[in-house]
Amino acid sequence: MNGLSGTSVLVVGGGFGGLSTACYLADAGADVTVVEKNDGLGGRASVLERDGFRFDMGPSWYLMPDVFERFFGHFDRTPTDYYALEHLDPHYRIFFKDGDRVDITPDLERSKEVFESYEAGAGEALERYLEQSEENYNVGMEHFVYEDRATVRDFLDPAVAKQARGLTMLGSMQDHVEKYFEHPKLQQIMQYTLVFLGGSPNNTPALYNLMSHVDFNLGVWYPENGLGGVVDGMASLGEELGVEYVTGTPVTEIMGRRGGFKVTTAGSETFFPDVVVSDADYAHTELELLDEGKRHYDADYWESRTYAPSAFLMYMGVEGDVEELAHHTLVLPTDWEQHFDEIFENPAWPDNPAYYLCVPSETDDSVAPEGHSNLFVLVPIAPGLDDTEETREQYRELVLDDIAEHTGTDLRDRMVVEETFTVSDFAERYNAYEGSALGLAHTLKQTALFRPSRRSESVDGLYYTGGYTTPGIGVPMCLISGELTADAVREDAGLEHAHQG
Ligand SMILES: Cc1cc2nc3c(=O)[nH]c(=O)nc-3n(C[C@H](O)[C@H](O)[C@H](O)COP(=O)(O)OP(=O)(O)OC[C@H]3O[C@@H](n4cnc5c(N)ncnc54)[C@H](O)[C@@H]3O)c2cc1C
Repeated sequence: MNGLSGTSVLVVGGGFGGLSTACYLADAGADVTVVEKNDGLGGRASVLERDGFRFDMGPSWYLMPDVFERFFGHFDRTPTDYYALEHLDPHYRIFFKDGDRVDITPDLERSKEVFESYEAGAGEALERYLEQSEENYNVGMEHFVYEDRATVRDFLDPAVAKQARGLTMLGSMQDHVEKYFEHPKLQQIMQYTLVFLGGSPNNTPALYNLMSHVDFNLGVWYPENGLGGVVDGMASLGEELGVEYVTGTPVTEIMGRRGGFKVTTAGSETFFPDVVVSDADYAHTELELLDEGKRHYDADYWESRTYAPSAFLMYMGVEGDVEELAHHTLVLPTDWEQHFDEIFENPAWPDNPAYYLCVPSETDDSVAPEGHSNLFVLVPIAPGLDDTEETREQYRELVLDDIAEHTGTDLRDRMVVEETFTVSDFAERYNAYEGSALGLAHTLKQTALFRPSRRSESVDGLYYTGGYTTPGIGVPMCLISGELTADAVREDAGLEHAHQG
């Protein structure tokens, strides 16, 4: 397949969206160069190595293995050509802050028993919920994810709604979940995955109940060497296809148009590609890399959007083990409304946070020196929050106290490596708007065709990929975004796209 032979493409940013687009376009014959600001590839999925500890700095849940298979399959490879996969059991553990604790495992019968123990009939309700979730997943993937829906009519297409009987796409997740489960803890279990999409139960459309199929049925996996291992796999695939990578080189300006771009960098190199694809945050690209007259969305547009949370992260290397914690552990207050309110409505550092602990050393010995554990804590917080040294220090104390109190794991006196990463770090390291960890939230008004366009509407030959465009947030979605953006480039070059349908 060499329909783009003779076309040079510059991809700004080496996150998953950029790496994916680069592979598809190189496979189509283009000469592709990825220019990345930071020293390593992976974007939000960077890796931090310190004193024998190796931390995935961002994503840590390998979900939707089918999407990775499809991606590598396009190039006649499989994920396992690049990394082994381990199915986690339990998928995750939840500590409720009232002392209760639940494991969600790959075994549906066990999950049904857990649900039944909270509420009579909830085991059977879980089965019905997951059946509908699976149906939504299949319809959603076909009609909204792998296909770039273009019009409102398509989005509201009755045929699509009919195909997924009872699909209540437009109501809120909160209303949807309440129809199945009364017990607040069961509602929380079904809703926590929304945090992956950067939303809350009240601002995310019920369409996304498909996420329960993702976590209960498709499972939670651990790739060899973590998500950093997946980045390495994709970068190697790109190399095999002829992609070139230039790292440690921020792009500072994009000028020109199709067939005659000039891309300036902070380094000594200037590039003159035919086509530019930006995987850097859309707002950064438009507001800081393009001339004012070339922007399609102005500063007011970006200001008026709903952003996914930022995060307060602490990467920790500790002596000894942390056996109370599973590889993926959630700690949830029984009433989490206030935390969502402090993210989306009244931005503030949460006093009683819902948070996530990742302990890859439970699965992988290579991430910590012998006799030590590797973990990070992630508290979702509002983007744009002020994060002075003093605030970070105070919040660190609050989080460590909370972990000790609610999981029985006291980390305070045995840390040998410690690093925090929060709002201003996201802004600085990734050029993230307001330091959002994930970009645009998946509210109804920012879903499918309502996300910013993958083709620049002001600059011919400029495209976007990654979490800001369709289908949206998350590693699997960014892989698909790369496929869709590459299709758009091929289509505009008068070629049929490589879509597998
Ligand atoms: C803490 C955290 C936890 C997450 N957990 C999960 C998870 O468990 N599972 C999951 O599936 N997803 C998760 N996600 C979401 C997922 O990581 C992202 O949706 C995805 O990685 C985003 O990829 P991207 O291609 O959109 O862009 P990014 O990863 O943001 O990549 C964009 C790249 O562009 C570069 N760049 C910016 N400006 C310039 C410039 N001027 N010049 C050159 N380069 C530039 C940046 O440095 C960056 O490398 C998580 C995200 C975070 C932050």
